[in-house]
Order: sequence, then structure tokens, then C-alpha cells
Amino acid sequence: MEYTDILVIGGGAAGMAAALAASEAGRRVLLCEKEDRPGGILNRCTHRGFGRAFLGRDLTGQEYAGFFAERLYKSAAEVRTGVTVLSLSQDRTALLSGRKGLFRIKFRFCILAAGCLEKTPGSLGIPGTRPAGVLTAGTAQLLENTDGLIAGYRPVILGSGDVGLIMARQFAESGREVVALIEQKDQVGGLLRNRRECLEPYRIPVLLHTAAVEILGRDRITGVRIRDLETGFTRILHCDTLITAAGLIPDRTLCRDLMPAGRLPDWLRLCGNCESIHDIVDSVTREAMALGASLGQEAPRK
Ligand SMILES: Cc1cc2nc3c(=O)[nH]c(=O)nc-3n(C[C@H](O)[C@H](O)[C@H](O)COP(=O)(O)OP(=O)(O)OC[C@H]3O[C@@H](n4cnc5c(N)ncnc54)[C@H](O)[C@@H]3O)c2cc1C
Repeated sequence: MEYTDILVIGGGAAGMAAALAASEAGRRVLLCEKEDRPGGILNRCTHRGFGRAFLGRDLTGQEYAGFFAERLYKSAAEVRTGVTVLSLSQDRTALLSGRKGLFRIKFRFCILAAGCLEKTPGSLGIPGTRPAGVLTAGTAQLLENTDGLIAGYRPVILGSGDVGLIMARQFAESGREVVALIEQKDQVGGLLRNRRECLEPYRIPVLLHTAAVEILGRDRITGVRIRDLETGFTRILHCDTLITAAGLIPDRTLCRDLMPAGRLPDWLRLCGNCESIHDIVDSVTREAMALGASLGQEAPRK
């Protein structure tokens, strides 16, 4: 069976930084990424705002990913893309699936940097039909920023955190009409800089204290019925797309069965959005580098 000192699962900002630091500490490192290239969420982000604190540069997400991927490929760490880690066992082995089929790897430490999951439109429990055009923000980003497709022309955006704000700007910047950004709370969420940069220049209508209470349309969405939570008044917003940006949840699927006492085994560490949701990538990189370096001290030398 193959062996590595440190197995890193996930090649987003966190996994890349952790793998780099552990490898620079002289450990044998294997990073596995299920997609065809490292970068994770960064690959979908065409907007600027990445690396201001850590690199002192204002990069797009894709540029930030490229900066670290280049360093990673030049390092001694081994990177395998198109490889999904299916499970982890207490005997410090992992079951993986790659282009050549299933295989196992033994490791000393494992860094889980699997990112996060989006709350899906289904999990929001909004009554009504389920026509085309109801998408999570992540899916819309994939369609538009990776596949070059158009997710919609007149979206309603649900959720005013950073992801919702950035999606609103993406639609408005390309000349499309954002019908409204709706938010249940009494104020817009997200970072101050995103509120300033994403909403104000485009005069995007923001409806606070507002919930989506019904999705309308048969084949394609035609509108969303909304309720003002203060007055109870309902009305219909006509749109061709509903983008949900209702929250992110750390993806700890792989360690679910490893924590009978609610504690992680001592050979497993979490980092990046898998550990807690990070608004800013610079802190992901910093924390993951510190983790990689400290595990690098503990793991046996090559
Ligand atoms: C829409 C949006 C906009 C943002 N805008 C900004 C911004 O302007 N500025 C800023 O600083 N930050 C921004 N952020 C935050 C920042 O991008 C993220 O916090 C950071 O990129 C998260 O990195 P990560 O490595 O933790 O997760 P991810 O990027 O999600 O990486 C996880 C990786 O793990 C892989 N993976 C998962 N499971 C497995 C498995 N079983 N086997 C193998 N591989 C697996 C996935 O394919 C993925 O590549 C934004 C985030 C979002 C969502």
C-alpha cells in the first residue's frame, strides 16, 4: 500500500497552503483534489478582492488560485487531481477513487480541507413549484464563470451575505436587471466593502424583513411571492431566475464516522471552510500554512 506522511484532502486555498507548508517542512505530502485542477471556490470567482492582506495585491479568485497552484506544483508535494477521497478509517488509511479505479493510501496525518456545502433551495422549504431557474449561487457561478453559460437575465437573489452581494454585482455588472435582493433580517449581511462595492454603484433594490414564500412557474420560474415580515403583506416579484445564497455549511462528511465521542482523532485536522466558514481567503491561507507547518514538525521525516 502507498504511504505518505501527510494526506491533504482538497486542493482549495486551504489544502494548497497546508500542503505547501508541510512539504516545505520536509514531509512527504500528497494532496488529492476531486476536480481536474486545484483552486476550489477560487476557480469560480472572477471578481477582485483576494489577497489584499496576505499578498498585498488585489487579485481575482482565479488569479489567487493560480498564484498558489504554481507554487504548489513547483514544491515537493505530490498533487493528484481527479482523485476523490471516499472514506477515512481509524487505521489511518484512506480509500480513494481516481481515473484508474479504487485504491488505498496509508498516512501518518490527514488534513481535511474539503471546503463547504451550500444550503440548497430544497432545504429552504419554500412552497411552490420547482421549475428551471432556481439555483444556488455556487451553481450559478459554475455555469457562468467556469462553463461560460448564462444562468438568467432577471434574477431575484435570496440572501444578503457576501455570496449574495457578489452574485448581485455579477448580474448587474453585465447589464442584467437584478429584480431585488431579499433578506429576512433587518440589515444587509456581508463585509462592509462588499456592501459598498456590490450594491451602491448598481442601485440594486434591497428588500429587508422580506421572505420568499412561494416559487411560481411551470417549466421556468416566472416569479417569487414575497412577504414583508413586518406587515405580513405579500406581493409577486416577476423574475426568470432565483439565486439562493442562504448560507454555507462546513463539509465534514468524511469525518462523520470518526468522532464517536464528538472529538476528532489525533491524526486528523480540519482547515479552511471545512473547519469554519471564512469570508476572506487570506485568513484561510494563513491558518492552513500554520497548520501544515506545525504538522510538518510532528510527522516523521521522509
Ligand atoms: C462566492 C464567494 C465569494 C468570495 N469572495 C471572496 C473575496 O472577494 N475575497 C476573499 O478574500 N474571500 C472570498 N471568499 C472566501 C474564500 O474564497 C474562501 O473562504 C476560500 O476560498 C475557501 O477555501 P477552502 O480551501 O476552505 O475551500 P474550497 O475552495 O471549497 O476547497 C475545497 C476543495 O476540496 C475539494 N474536495 C472536497 N471533498 C473532496 C474529497 N472527498 N476528495 C477530494 N477533494 C475534495 C473540492 O473539490 C475543493 O476543491 C469568497 C467565497 C465565496 C463562496
